[in-house]
Amino acid sequence: MGKRTATCPGCGNVIEVPEKWMKYDIGCKECGEEVEVPDLPLTELFDVDIWAERDRLGIWVTDKERDKVVFEVWDDDARQLYEDGFVKPGEGLKDSLLEYLKETKVI
Ligand SMILES: [Zn+2]
Repeated sequence: MGKRTATCPGCGNVIEVPEKWMKYDIGCKECGEEVEVPDLPLTELFDVDIWAERDRLGIWVTDKERDKVVFEVWDDDARQLYEDGFVKPGEGLKDSLLEYLKETKVI
């Protein structure tokens, strides 16, 4: 995971955010202002894996922090996601799938 920072709206102090901090706000050491910590990007929180061989297609999403599979589809269900245009093939798969799952409140 990359380092994250948040900028204090009060004094412009740039605060390094510990990896474990997610949705909490942080108090600025310089001026005491509450600093909003940005959410981690979905791609940092979840892994997307694909398994494709002959007529089998599997896509599953793992919650990295909990090390738990939170979404899994196979074969026709997986292909349906492409056909419906919810996920993009190739490079865009990870982002588009995570966006879709977020929108539908699966993750
Ligand atoms: Zn400050």
